[in-house]
Amino acid sequence: MDDSMPRFRRPANEPVLAYAPGSPERAQLKAALARMRNEQVEFGSRIAGAEVRGEQPLELVCPHEHRRVLGRCHMGGARETLQAIEAALAARQRWAATPWQERAAIFLRAAELLAGAYRPVLNAATMLNQSKTAHQAEIDSACELIDFWRFNVWYMTQIYAEQPSSPPGVINRLDYRPLEGFVFAVSPFNFTSIQANLPTAPALMGNTVVWKPAPNAMLAPYYIMRLLEEAGLPPGVINMVAGDPAAAGEAALSHPELAGVHFTGSVSTFRRIWKAVGANIERYRSVPRVVAETGGKDFIIAHPSADLQALHTAIIRGGYEYQGQKCSAVSRVYVPRSLWPELRERLVATIGEIRMGDVTDFTNFMGAVIDARAFAKIRGYLEHARSQSCYRVLAGGGADDRIGWFVEPTLIETTDPGGRLMCEEIFGPVVTVYAYEDTDWLGALELCERTSPYGLTGAVFARDRAALQTASAVLRYAAGNFYINDKPTGAVVDQQPFGGARHSGTDDKAGSAHNLRRWVIPRAIKEALAPPLDWRYPFMQEA
Ligand code: NAD
Repeated sequence: MDDSMPRFRRPANEPVLAYAPGSPERAQLKAALARMRNEQVEFGSRIAGAEVRGEQPLELVCPHEHRRVLGRCHMGGARETLQAIEAALAARQRWAATPWQERAAIFLRAAELLAGAYRPVLNAATMLNQSKTAHQAEIDSACELIDFWRFNVWYMTQIYAEQPSSPPGVINRLDYRPLEGFVFAVSPFNFTSIQANLPTAPALMGNTVVWKPAPNAMLAPYYIMRLLEEAGLPPGVINMVAGDPAAAGEAALSHPELAGVHFTGSVSTFRRIWKAVGANIERYRSVPRVVAETGGKDFIIAHPSADLQALHTAIIRGGYEYQGQKCSAVSRVYVPRSLWPELRERLVATIGEIRMGDVTDFTNFMGAVIDARAFAKIRGYLEHARSQSCYRVLAGGGADDRIGWFVEPTLIETTDPGGRLMCEEIFGPVVTVYAYEDTDWLGALELCERTSPYGLTGAVFARDRAALQTASAVLRYAAGNFYINDKPTGAVVDQQPFGGARHSGTDDKAGSAHNLRRWVIPRAIKEALAPPLDWRYPFMQEA
């Protein structure tokens, strides 16, 4: 303990490395991939700094080569979750009393480790176990995660500096207390950065955490825990439970000390969690904070004045990168009839050029979808499209799971703007287009606005300023991240704080101070320097 007040600078975003032939980063990544592909890691939950192996071995595989086993995770359930809760509660007071400078130093050290020796390790794990290309891994498991850790420290200092005024004779201050109890962090498979940010954001603010990562992407969490421990995170602050989701969820959500839930995943899982919190509300010591980012049915809407080539590129990148498995991925497109024939031709031609396959072959633009369940779900949508007369498959439409869970980049045209492919989250490389009458810009915007229950991301393409203004006004609640003349994916920490409302979640904006505020309960402290000694007020005196 000392009395220093370090002054942190606002960080800069971590530069995205190119992995061009001959670059040192490419050589390091290739070496890490070769090592990890042939290595067999074995691990279980990580509780209070020690490994706890459950009884259900789960094979970690490459989605693009599902016979290749990368290791085994020994999964547990309720027992491990309760053990993790005990560990989090035991570490709570000490961690909450740890000076914030110390907590900051641990996560800044973690960012340095990730920018250095761990960069190829976490990128390789993300590529192999989640089927991301080198570029998709780099912007996620390296850059976004480094940014989360560095910027969250900066935001924390900004929050702590927000203090009330103190008139003469009084000292007023706000003590930003961590929540009372433990935070349950539940993360999705599709972003390593989100997997790590969900437990670390509350931990930075002084909370202790039980973290349940997604079972279909457990390799990155294994390395994240190693990295955090190497950075100096004390045992018990983040306890990673490798466990059956329903059993772990039930144990954590019914515990009286549940103080918060930090969730990212599908809307159906979130509704289950929300209902469990509601059903248990009387058991809890405090009202749990529930922060959730869920699904999307993200759109692009183009005006007749749109730049056709920019629109084409946004659909290709926004719709098919990472196999459409980003919560922000473009999956419904509205184009004016006048632009559609030319746009269709360009899209079909480009889709014909896209290479899909093993992500360790750097010439591929796409890998496989995450697992057999996702594959079956997406194939179900493709079959539905073929069975309905309102849809026409223009490109792709094939799916093959013999080697990996591969789904072709697919472009579908529809005459029914209210059909399932325009409303439901598919979470795969499937883009459906509806062509509207050029003269009905307002009608097209209103259609886009009311078509889905989500409100995550969306983009408008137009060169006409008046058209852009109308779009921004009509679509104000349709997207929490709204893009003008750009694809609706690829939000960057500190530039586009991310999240949506409606059924896309609580819009607490990961990668911003809004999110960190949810992990503290401020206490207002007033100290009187010269408290009154006489209980009577002057007005009570006789004249
Ligand atoms: P999912 O809902 O299947 O799983 C998310 C997490 O919830 C996993 O860890 C899973 O094991 C856990 N889970 C499942 N059932 C549970 C239960 N009963 N109790 C407790 N935990 C339980 O989602 P996913 O397939 O991993 O991720 C894809 C979804 O996530 C998509 O809908 C996508 O849009 C969404 N997502 C949203 C954002 C965002 O910021 N809005 C970011 C990434 C992903």
